[in-house]
Formats: sequence, structure tokens, C-alpha cells
Amino acid sequence: MNILLATSEAVPFAKTGGLADVSGALPVELERLGHRPAVILPGYRQTRYCGQKIESLGIDFIVPIGSKMVTGRLSKSVMPGSNVPVYFIEQDQYFDRDQLYGADGKDYIDNCERFVFFSRAVLEAIRLLDLQVDVLHANDWQTGLVPAYLKTIYANVPRYQKIASVFTIHNIAFQGQFWHWDMLLTGLDWKYFNWHEMEFHGKLNLLKTGLVFADALSTVSRRYAEEIQAIPLGCGLEGLLQYRRDVLTGIINGIDPAEWNPATDKHLPERFDADTVGRGKPKCKAALQKELGLTQLAGVPLIASVGRLTDQKGFDLIADVIQRWVQTNDAQWVVLGTGQPKYHKLFESLAQRYPDKIAVRLEFSNALAHRIEAGSDMFLMPSRYEPCGLNQMYSLKYGSVPIVRETGGLADTIVGFGNPENQGRPANGFSFLEYSALALSETIRRACDLYRLQPGEWSKLVDIGMRQDWSWRNSANQYVELYLKTIGLKHV
Ligand code: ADP
Repeated sequence: MNILLATSEAVPFAKTGGLADVSGALPVELERLGHRPAVILPGYRQTRYCGQKIESLGIDFIVPIGSKMVTGRLSKSVMPGSNVPVYFIEQDQYFDRDQLYGADGKDYIDNCERFVFFSRAVLEAIRLLDLQVDVLHANDWQTGLVPAYLKTIYANVPRYQKIASVFTIHNIAFQGQFWHWDMLLTGLDWKYFNWHEMEFHGKLNLLKTGLVFADALSTVSRRYAEEIQAIPLGCGLEGLLQYRRDVLTGIINGIDPAEWNPATDKHLPERFDADTVGRGKPKCKAALQKELGLTQLAGVPLIASVGRLTDQKGFDLIADVIQRWVQTNDAQWVVLGTGQPKYHKLFESLAQRYPDKIAVRLEFSNALAHRIEAGSDMFLMPSRYEPCGLNQMYSLKYGSVPIVRETGGLADTIVGFGNPENQGRPANGFSFLEYSALALSETIRRACDLYRLQPGEWSKLVDIGMRQDWSWRNSANQYVELYLKTIGLKHV
């Protein structure tokens, strides 16, 4: 099968979030499964300096953007460790900038124009590069117009007629909404600017456009696929997603075993696997306590959180619980992250007041994130919502027991210890449903009790998590099934 993945970011060429990880890993795995994937993304400034070799293809093209004609160029590279071709749409006025989507906390004002151009160029590149495409897989609002162009401007052009389209939502909170006059940029007839298609409360909505025009839809976990069909997580698009639920699937992201494996991890002072965790983790824990300036105590649970310090990730609950616990309970806390200034202030002041119990690092450090996974006993993810989440899967692999709120991908990957609805599935963590500091606090209490009073049960929990397989192979197989089904739908 020939799959073209259209995306606004892909590791190692350009990254702001999880979409880049999916776009980097999925095609490589699809190739291993015997398919012929290719990736297409904008050629950003970041791309030029990412350390990969990129060659110009000497192909220029012109596409209409509103009343202007805009030129672009094609260049090519390859996904490291594979033969997957990666094509870049170069257009310096749009993409040769400091960041991908905005600067100083503000989106670039011409984001609509930039991604109208990119989406239109994806369709043109298929012709210019003479690509065989069975499935065109678009992702998030930046490529929402790709399925729409296939069904409209290119609908009667022979080489495009058989292409099936899949559209994946990575986070429905970001919809690419622009004022209605930007409709002119798309080159599409105003008749599509209605509330069944591209319009959303008077604005042009590019995510909605993708959801309407694609042959099949997916998102990054089964639970999130259900949640976005209802208020509040559907963010206004719940009705449309209910209407299209027959073609909506949830496929969890995988993790990269080359980067996240405690048996080979170059960032750790001591490496370990499921058989040696009993010896390896205490050494990693002692080293981490030393690195963070915490008192070196072996039997006290070390509880970690790593991530964007935002409301989405539940850091308000974490701060609340730490404040309740710090004076009365024996536990140590580490928080690594950057994000909203209110959380920076809050965690900084907590760390100043209780330096031997709370360590806070307000920075982005991949190496420290690895050492925290390896050295901690428990890992907190009380997210308000979580389309997929990766940290809980890293934690399982590193024997740090996840404590999560039952939402999105967290609900799909973590089976809570002692939860009656487990139906015989072996537990690999702790979970709770109600978004409250009390619920989080009670769940941490249950975890700490098991850790202290039933070390045998605790080790079993760790062992089950460490032996589970969260690699990309399973997820890529599910994408293949989705692609095949979609081609089938297209050809009936
Ligand atoms: P999201 O994509 O919503 O931010 P995920 O759990 O899916 O959340 O993935 C977050 C990724 O970013 C993980 O690999 C996590 O370790 C990493 N990360 C987030 N913040 C930091 C940080 N301050 N330092 C190091 N890694 C971080």
C-alpha cells in the first residue's frame, strides 16, 4: 500500500509536540510492515538546521492563494534508519521563520494563508513527483484542507480519484479557526461555507473541514474517540463527530524503544530491565535524590511529574496535594516542566519552603526526564484531558508506577489497582475518575500504602508494567487495518 502522510511536523525535521513523534515513527514502522509510506511537510528554518541531509529536487511550482499566485519549491530527505522518503514544501516567506506556528505566545497572523498554501501544495506535489498514493493521511488543522481539496478541486482529475483520505485528530482543542474572509484564500466555493461543512460559529474552521471531507477519521486513543463525541471534550465539534462515528477510530500512539528503554538508556547511572529492577532502580533513585538535593532515603516513596505545566495536565491538583501532604506525610516530590507562569511561581515557592522534600526544575531537560522515570517510584498524570499521553507509557517501561486520571489515552493504557471495573485485567498502575485534589490525594494514599505495606504486591505491579509492549508495531498494524478499510470504503 502507498501511503502519503501530510503533516506540519515530524521528528527529526521539525517538532513542537506529539504530532512530530507520530509522524516520525509511524511511517518507519509502516515500511517495516512491507508498505510504501512517504511523508510531506513544510520546509521550515528549523528543518534546515536539524542535521539531516536535504537535497533540492529542482522542481518549482505555483499555486493560487486567493488572488495571488505563490511559488514553492520541492526538496527531499529520508527518515533516519529507513528508506522512507520525506518531501518538503519550501516557501521562505511562509516557513523561514523562528518558530513553526507563532512567536512570543502569539500565533503568526498569516497562519491560515501558510497552511492553505501547504495543503494545496501537497496535492500539487503528488502530480509533480508522480507519486502513487492509495491513502492520503492528513493530521490536525494544518492539513484539514487536504481531504477537502481531494473532494472538490481535484475530484475529477484522474490520478486523484482513487485516493482515499484519512484524517487524524491529535488534540481537538486546536482547531485552526480564522475569520470568514480567509475562505477566499482557500480557492473553494463559498457554498462550502455553511455550518455542515467549513463554517463554525461564523468562522472558517480547518479542523472541522478535515473532519467533514475525509473518508475516515481517527484519533490517538479509543477513549478520546468516545470523549470527543460529547460535551465538553468535543470542543463544539461533538455533534459532527457523533454524526461521523461510524468512520471514527481510536489508535493509541506507540513509544520509541530506542529512546525509552531502561536497559540501554545512556542517561542513567545504572541500567536495568524487568529482571534487575530490584537492584537497578534503588541505585537510580539514590543518584536522583543526590542530583536533586533531596534527602537520600531508600524507603520513602519518590513521586514524580514531568510535562508541560498547564491546566490540561492537572498541575493545579498536584500543587494542592503536595501542600496537603508535605508536612504530615513521608514522601518526596519532583516536578520537571515549563509552562504557565502561575505554576512556575507556585512550584518554585513550594521547593523553597521544603527543599529536602520537594525538588522543582523549571526547564526542558530530556536527560533529566529519563533519570526521573528511572529513579522515581510513582508518576503522576492527573490530566483534565489527555488525547494519548506518552509519559505514562515511559513510566510503565521504567518501573515508575503511573497514577492517572481516567481520561483519554490514560484510561486506555492504565489498569487501576483495586478498581472493580478491571474485569480480570492485571493492574499496572492506579487511577481515579473525579477531577479533584481529594480524589488524587486518596489515590496517592492507596499507592503509598501498597508501596510500604505490601512490597511483594508492589513489585508485581512494577513487573506487569515493565513487561507490557507499547512499541509502534501494534499501533502501525491498526493504522494498516484502518487504511485498508478506508480504501475499501472508497472503492465500493
Ligand atoms: P504532551 O504531548 O501533551 O505534552 P505527552 O505525555 O504526550 O504530553 O508527551 C510529553 C513529552 O514531552 C514526553 O516525552 C515528556 O517527557 C516530554 N517533556 C515535557 N516537558 C518536559 C520537560 N520539561 N523536560 C523534558 N521532557 C519534557
